[in-house]
Amino acid sequence: MLTNQASRRHFRLPHPVLTLIGLVFFAHFAGAGIVLAQSPGDAGVDDPYFPNLGNGGYDVLHYAIDARFDVEANTLQATTVIDAQATQGLNRLNLDFQRIAIESVLVDDAEASFEHRNGELVITPAAAITEGQAFRVEVRYGGSPSSYPFQQTIADLGWYDLESHLVGMGEPAGSSTWYPVNEHPSDKATYTFRLTAPKPYMAVASGVLVERIAGLDETTFVWEMRQPMASYLTLVAVGDFVEISDETADGLPIRSYAPPNLVRRAESAFARTSEIIAAYEALFGDYPFETVGGLVVDGGFGFALETQSMPIYDGMIIRAPVEFSERFIAHELAHQWFGNSVSPASWRDIWLNEGFATYASWLWVEQSAGLSVFGSLARGSYVELRNSRRLTRPGDAKGPVTGDPGVEAIFDGEVIYTRGAVTLHALRLKVGDDAFFEIVRTYYDRFKFGNASTEDFIAVAEEVSGTDLNYFFQGWLFEADVPLIPELES
Ligand SMILES: [Zn+2]
Repeated sequence: MLTNQASRRHFRLPHPVLTLIGLVFFAHFAGAGIVLAQSPGDAGVDDPYFPNLGNGGYDVLHYAIDARFDVEANTLQATTVIDAQATQGLNRLNLDFQRIAIESVLVDDAEASFEHRNGELVITPAAAITEGQAFRVEVRYGGSPSSYPFQQTIADLGWYDLESHLVGMGEPAGSSTWYPVNEHPSDKATYTFRLTAPKPYMAVASGVLVERIAGLDETTFVWEMRQPMASYLTLVAVGDFVEISDETADGLPIRSYAPPNLVRRAESAFARTSEIIAAYEALFGDYPFETVGGLVVDGGFGFALETQSMPIYDGMIIRAPVEFSERFIAHELAHQWFGNSVSPASWRDIWLNEGFATYASWLWVEQSAGLSVFGSLARGSYVELRNSRRLTRPGDAKGPVTGDPGVEAIFDGEVIYTRGAVTLHALRLKVGDDAFFEIVRTYYDRFKFGNASTEDFIAVAEEVSGTDLNYFFQGWLFEADVPLIPELES
């Protein structure tokens, strides 16, 4: 007879055996767990405006871009080495890269398979990468870079084949036209650019020129950006450039580059760089990078961009009267603090770049041309804003708002630049000069070399001023109507 009790007794296993079985089970499922945890990295970082920009699953630490250019043919042959750290287990990962043909991809020196389409380079490493692992991706490619249409509302971005020079730059996503990249400002990294150009051309990039290696027919220029840089701030240009060398009163090197026919103009346009830097250092804190300067190109595109440590200016700006070009230069230099050192957490936070740069250029006017010129600027901008919104038909008043403008208004002059700057001026009038500049310095100091969101700025403003500013920022940043500033009404 077999009773329940007997059978149980009979089949009861000694305790150490149970423990062993338990361990085997645990190890088995834990092992399965690791395999399951190695999933594909996302094809975007969920930016509220551009969800496909950037990629998930890793953090880039350093880019080393080695490129050889043919200026006449507009071609490059390049290898980009990316040192990164996995933030999840990865059996696949993406990089953003546009239209250049890829020759090979290595992950940790092993051949990896890849697919390349629609601006995404999808890499499957031979061996999966574990969470926290440091790994290296090496991409070899060559061809003719070109700009590409990025959203309907923003012009073609990235690579410019100009008559006598090549230029790579573009906000918010132009860098992927010439190197594979995690193209979102939330993943900042340091850079080495090793750029080879045929003689007599020069290759210029963001950062410090650390080496110039002369070959028989060509020259290699090695540039280092040793502070974190968002990819939309990288710059490369190859062409006939003359170096204009100077330094600030504090000994910060000023290195600017211009085509030979624009050197004189550039010298006078950049003449006050040292003074502008000194004014901003007194107001915001130390200049964040190792050099400062500007690159002038004859592009005919009519804009300037705050590329890190060396903003780029179209020749049209530099040819204009100094009063005009200086406003551009003051704006782009202010971005070195706001936008470049403190970068937006997402593209929704763009007013933190443009509002600050616009307001800083007014502060430069306040210092250089006097309080009355500043006053008329601030008042004029405020009145312009009020009038513009008054013209909107009733019931039609829901335009884009500064704190969440949407893709269409991301670079809107009125909504982002003017209203961003007037918002800061309104804050200054509300909390007073001392608290206002303490807010700006604290915000810069807390988020320098990193990223900040609108919420981060509001939190600093409330903390430093000891004031509840919820109602204030709600009105200025998130409602279409322009709040009243009694001080500016006349
Ligand atoms: Zn700007």
